[in-house]
Amino acid sequence: MEDTRKVDFLIVGQGLAGTLLSYFLRKEGQSVLVIDANHQSSSSAIAAGIINPITGYRFVKSWLLEDLLPFAKETYGDLADQFGQTFFQEREVLRILFSAGEENDWLARTAQEGWSKYVKDSEDWQEWEGVAFPGFSQGVLYGAQVDVGALIKVYQKELLSQKLLIDESMDFDKLQITEGQVQYGNLSAQNIVFCEGHQGQKNPWFSYLPFEVAKGEVLVIKLDKTQAKRILKHKIILAPLGEDLYWVGSNYEHKPKDDLPSDRGRDFILKKLQQVLKIPFQEIDHLAAIRPATFDRRPFLGRHPQYPALAIFNGLGAKGSSLAPYFAKQLCDHLLSGKALHPEVDIANRQKK
Ligand SMILES: Cc1cc2nc3c(=O)[nH]c(=O)nc-3n(C[C@H](O)[C@H](O)[C@H](O)COP(=O)(O)OP(=O)(O)OC[C@H]3O[C@@H](n4cnc5c(N)ncnc54)[C@H](O)[C@@H]3O)c2cc1C
Repeated sequence: MEDTRKVDFLIVGQGLAGTLLSYFLRKEGQSVLVIDANHQSSSSAIAAGIINPITGYRFVKSWLLEDLLPFAKETYGDLADQFGQTFFQEREVLRILFSAGEENDWLARTAQEGWSKYVKDSEDWQEWEGVAFPGFSQGVLYGAQVDVGALIKVYQKELLSQKLLIDESMDFDKLQITEGQVQYGNLSAQNIVFCEGHQGQKNPWFSYLPFEVAKGEVLVIKLDKTQAKRILKHKIILAPLGEDLYWVGSNYEHKPKDDLPSDRGRDFILKKLQQVLKIPFQEIDHLAAIRPATFDRRPFLGRHPQYPALAIFNGLGAKGSSLAPYFAKQLCDHLLSGKALHPEVDIANRQKK
């Protein structure tokens, strides 16, 4: 039978961005329909979901950390209550420092005001002792890990059970923009929000935005009898997945030709692992996806300048787990009541490609 529903919001893409936006809009009583062909080429499906308060070689506090982190914790907690499953776990990060210079920088940064709640004094390697090679020294940070893959699966099930998910890839030729609304086949919606991840680069209305995507590859390995709880940030990151399995990644390949696992990506990770692990491991899986990153490292939010029924939520880059809850709520408020967006994420202020 032809689908002739009329909804407030049509959402294209059900990765982390589309999931959280749908969640907040539905909480506000909006009717939502989501289009997604079983998470094809989704970066949320393979992300480690790490929230790391300090990033980069210069140990810089993550942008908006003080706002993003508490909001993320609250949102994932509410979702856990709704679905009876935990998505957010606090996890310390054992950061290996490789030289006296690096240690000095670390100590200088982490002694600054406002840092004490994120840094822990610890000489202790806990479960990584004897498993990984030591560096010059190490530091311990408060961090967290979000099971993004589990969240999008659970939400996919929820949408399917409510008949709110159309399992197909959107055909742009079927979309008509009319006065104040859109028509997709026989469906009509007041608004359409594109949450397409890296595939947003090909969106006919938003491809003008400065995307700068980066492919990343991942190995899942098994390390017998380790059961580490901490994330290890060594020459490469190892994040516990439970049952002696670890997520290992990742590399950054700019201007990727495809989103597939490659020999080159695998070799890169294996070489790094040789510098990290003292003990043998078993390779379980090899995955790849493309991060929806942007030229200025800020997400893309807002309505289309010419067609206000069209909006975008994209550009979560390598930090979707912390950015997505806060900015999904911000976009929801903006779409429903015109509340201002953070100027750095508002597409109205962005340079064209
Ligand atoms: C290797 C790797 C490691 C990462 N590690 C971390 C990490 O540790 N911490 C962190 O915070 N972030 C991490 N990320 C980044 C994180 O994955 C992203 O920031 C976030 O998941 C992006 O979510 P999204 O919903 O915008 O995009 P996606 O997850 O890519 O979802 C987009 C969805 O839209 C669908 N879609 C696209 N076009 C269409 C269409 N035309 N019709 C229908 N559906 C469509 C796709 O099928 C997909 O399901 C990592 C990413 C990679 C690749």
